[in-house]
Amino acid sequence: MAKEVSRERWRNEFGEWFRDILISAEIMDYRYPIKGCGVWLPYGFQIRKNVFQLIRNILDATGHKEALFPLLIPETSLAKEAEHVRGFEAQCFWVTHGGQKPLKIRYALRPTSETILGPMLHLWIRAHTDLPLKLYQVVTVFRYETKATRPILRMREFDFKEAHTAHATAEEAEAEVKEEIENYRKFFDELCVAYKISRRPEWDKFAGAVYTIAFDMLCPDGRTLQIGTVHNLGQNFAKAFDVTYEKPDGTHEYVWQTCAGISGRGIASVLIAHGDDHGIVLPPRIAPIQIIVVPIPYKEKGETVNKKCLEVVAKLKKAGFRAEADTREDVTPGAKYYHWELRGVPIRIEIGPRDIENNEATLVRRDTLTRETCKMEALESRLRSLMETMTREMRRKAWEWLEKHTFQTSSLEEAKQLISERAGIVEAPWCGDSECGQQIEEAVDARILGVPEETQTKPKGKCILCGKPAKTIIRIAITY
Ligand SMILES: [Zn+2]
Repeated sequence: MAKEVSRERWRNEFGEWFRDILISAEIMDYRYPIKGCGVWLPYGFQIRKNVFQLIRNILDATGHKEALFPLLIPETSLAKEAEHVRGFEAQCFWVTHGGQKPLKIRYALRPTSETILGPMLHLWIRAHTDLPLKLYQVVTVFRYETKATRPILRMREFDFKEAHTAHATAEEAEAEVKEEIENYRKFFDELCVAYKISRRPEWDKFAGAVYTIAFDMLCPDGRTLQIGTVHNLGQNFAKAFDVTYEKPDGTHEYVWQTCAGISGRGIASVLIAHGDDHGIVLPPRIAPIQIIVVPIPYKEKGETVNKKCLEVVAKLKKAGFRAEADTREDVTPGAKYYHWELRGVPIRIEIGPRDIENNEATLVRRDTLTRETCKMEALESRLRSLMETMTREMRRKAWEWLEKHTFQTSSLEEAKQLISERAGIVEAPWCGDSECGQQIEEAVDARILGVPEETQTKPKGKCILCGKPAKTIIRIAITY
């Protein structure tokens, strides 16, 4: 058995670890002179691209069509759905001038796009044959965050994949919510990220929604991070924008809508879930470079070794792997290992003169740093199976970690204790009353993530706070 790769710093200094890794692994430069805005560096952008490609593929396969809507929202549109505007107006960046001239109507930079789609759906949807309409876009959105901003985790301009759908009936919208949840499961499973799915409490749902389902992951510091949301909008926005369709019997009805979002946090989730003290660890599926080949030169054999490495890379590329050779002359093999481990490259191949003689290579897995030798003729099949094993084990490890840090209790004191220790997610019985729920948040000094959506197990016993018979389980955690 290989000894565990150290995760001390990842676990105990997570905030600094994450901030450092973004710079040192060349993912994001956060020094842009506007607070809450950062630059995706080329390596980080490749990761971003591969992660968003994954969600694009999943959405395309379920009949969603990619589109692109404008950035600006007239204030009159934003104001149409009362709850929505209350929830978002204080968070908007406002465009007030065109050149030197004050605009008659202010424009908001999109904080989300329901009110951008509204007027267009009003024009597009006429008959039941126009439904369902399933669209998505990948854009950046803007929110004037007043909390402390953090690179990727809480920005003022951030990446957003938003899906918007319209349906003929409430049942179809409900089924779409289920489909979106399944889509997100697939997505995070591919990223080897473990999650809890919770129905957010009434007081924490999306502004304008009937209800909100959210995916949360657990960060190493014991705080949860919301990484995906699915909202059932009912007919709220359809009524605000007068989006109706003619039914087969000639009557008209408002459409039923859903929306679902994954932000840059979807990318952060991969970096966070698998990190260790050597850097990030990327699942092969989304790694910009899956295999890095490092020559181990020996005296006058340098040229032969480099040549062999380039040959191997050419072969691997032809076989469909994303492979590169690091043939830099002025860098030692040790420094190269460090460089690529930091950037999370799943597999390293080392080739030296003896390997060439024996017609073999040394393979090192990034997640465990275990080494093995492999005959050249078996290289491609071994790499394929190694990547599969690695993906499976990364996923298992992430789930184990989440389950190990999820606690069940019916004692308020114990819940408080667990939260104050930043132990993880606490699950407790609850009476279902909103006021009591908000008092629980105050009592434990944490947030209620909501009611588990994955399981429908009936709770036994009494509400953790008021002592009335429990109706559901709630999840409690300190959140980002
Ligand atoms: Zn209660």
